[in-house]
Amino acid sequence: MPTETFEFQVEARQLLQLMIHSVYSNKDVFLRELVSNASDALDKLRLAALKDDTLGADVSDLHIDIETDGEARTLTVRDNGIGMSYDEVGRLIGTIANSGTAQFVKELREAQDAGGAEGLIGQFGVGFYSGFMVADEMTLVTRRAGESQGTRWSSRGEGTYTLETVEDAPQGTSVTLHLKPADSDDQLHDYTSAWTIKDIVKRYSDFITWPIRTVPGKTDGDAAPEPETLNSMKALWARSREEVSDDEYHELYKHISHDWREPLETIRLQAEGTFEYQALLFVPSHAPHDLYTQGYKRGVQLYVKRVFIMDDCEALLPPYLRFVKGVVDAADLSLNVSREILQQDRHIRMMQRRLTKKILSTVKDTMTAAPDRYATFWREFGSVLKEGLLSDSDNRETLLAVASFASTHADDEPTTLAAYAERMKDGQEDIYYLTGETRESIENSPHMEAFRAKGIEVLLLTDPVDEVWVDVVGEFDGRRLRSVAKGEVDLGTQDGEQGDGEREKRSEEYAGLLGWMKETLGEDVKEVRLSSRLTVSPACIVSDAHDLTPALENMYRAMGQEVPTAQRILELNPGHLLVKGLNQAYKEREDRTELAETAELLHGLAVLAEGGRPKEPGRFVKLVADHLERSL
Ligand code: ADP
Repeated sequence: MPTETFEFQVEARQLLQLMIHSVYSNKDVFLRELVSNASDALDKLRLAALKDDTLGADVSDLHIDIETDGEARTLTVRDNGIGMSYDEVGRLIGTIANSGTAQFVKELREAQDAGGAEGLIGQFGVGFYSGFMVADEMTLVTRRAGESQGTRWSSRGEGTYTLETVEDAPQGTSVTLHLKPADSDDQLHDYTSAWTIKDIVKRYSDFITWPIRTVPGKTDGDAAPEPETLNSMKALWARSREEVSDDEYHELYKHISHDWREPLETIRLQAEGTFEYQALLFVPSHAPHDLYTQGYKRGVQLYVKRVFIMDDCEALLPPYLRFVKGVVDAADLSLNVSREILQQDRHIRMMQRRLTKKILSTVKDTMTAAPDRYATFWREFGSVLKEGLLSDSDNRETLLAVASFASTHADDEPTTLAAYAERMKDGQEDIYYLTGETRESIENSPHMEAFRAKGIEVLLLTDPVDEVWVDVVGEFDGRRLRSVAKGEVDLGTQDGEQGDGEREKRSEEYAGLLGWMKETLGEDVKEVRLSSRLTVSPACIVSDAHDLTPALENMYRAMGQEVPTAQRILELNPGHLLVKGLNQAYKEREDRTELAETAELLHGLAVLAEGGRPKEPGRFVKLVADHLERSL
């Protein structure tokens, strides 16, 4: 087959431009990325050979060689791993298949300054392409295990790459970088120096479980005479805490997660006994942007006795901990274990329980030990963790204890439920909350008025999942969780402001109006009653204590479930002039046609105030306009 030239996909081209103009200050990391890919390829080959003994690949000496040539100014990273077929090279190296990276490129284009771009690169990592930070040309030669023909890929990182088949390629992959001209006063970054390579490998890739060797180059004066293994190859999870530095843990995290930033938490667990395993887990410092998408790859890597078995092993952690990365190495599993078997395995379920508890207890500890880290954790992952309040009743207490929420108590500092309970006023029995789309819309809701007037704290819940868990969980530490927009609220008697007698008198006064309004509004309302939650607004809409909120109804409908629309209650503020006037007019007038319009308007206003939409917006607007006209 002749050499063919292809164009890079648009996103890939944009990414390459960034690499060539290297917006990332720490260029050394390109080697970590190439070594990381090589290591994955060796893992894959070993696994493939285990599963298929007809593959015919030699797995007795799997390794990564790094070869430098000072005269030609090249650096080659070679592995004898799984390799790639011709089609795979085009698909994996020529395009950006990973949806995360495509998203990243989009964000990069929007990040105007180089500082923003550097931050973003750290956030996503760019693997193979990072070679173009230091090279003006890259060549990759590869042959897939079990195939006879190899493929050569080559590019200067500009608009195109070439592909051709080659006959004599060894199995595995070699990536050759033609380094950019040397920067004379920059000794550290001479990537043809064996010492530089050694230093970078030690720093970033020591834990890689395959030997990484330097092969002395033709003219490399300072290289060692023999191939030399640079890394210790010790699996970090199997070593004791004292032996491993934080930096080493962090590099493992970067290898596994493809995130270039430091993790927020490192969690170790070593279980002994009949079912032995070691776990090294990481909580990232930032939530990935695709955490809520269907295809999000969740779970940690599974090893069996140091042998890599699978990525994204979802059986090891519950879905609400899907952001946790890491490695679990089990001693007593079959190397042939499949995802289906893992889902049903009793030991795996026990592991899942133990790992979950360990992660949650770590979070709990940071609340007191490192409040800033906890705050970051909750900001990034709180809304995912709250899913656990629905699905994991075993850990509900712990989840409630580590949760925190925005509150009227403070503008920017979320509160725990325990702290809320401590601040509760004498006579207050329940924990109040209100759900809504934004903090602002909740704070401006008429339902908040009496609570604000009386200084009663209200939790402001804005995550979609909040609508659901508050209903399911129902209480915290013996105190009911109550929506300020549901059921009757009775704050008046708490400090004896409004006696029972006075209330009865009012009820009598308004009985006629309320009955007539219910009749006039018909099916639109379940009931019309006087409110004790309003101080400023004339009216508001509330749900019955056990009815679904409109947001929840919508959520169920979005999931394809049929739910009837719950009728809502209209509450009137008897202290408001409009309501007083309406009552007066109701008593005095025989012809109530115009009053019926006012009643309809009042209802529409209450619907608008809670973020809803009047049933017939056109008619509502016309009524408002007519009334305004008459008031001129
Ligand atoms: P990432 O490693 O984040 O997936 P890369 O751009 O580094 O992204 O690599 C893209 C894909 O190319 C890898 O997922 C892998 O399938 C393949 N690949 C890269 N390097 C090698 C290699 N040395 N051997 C086999 N496959 C490789």
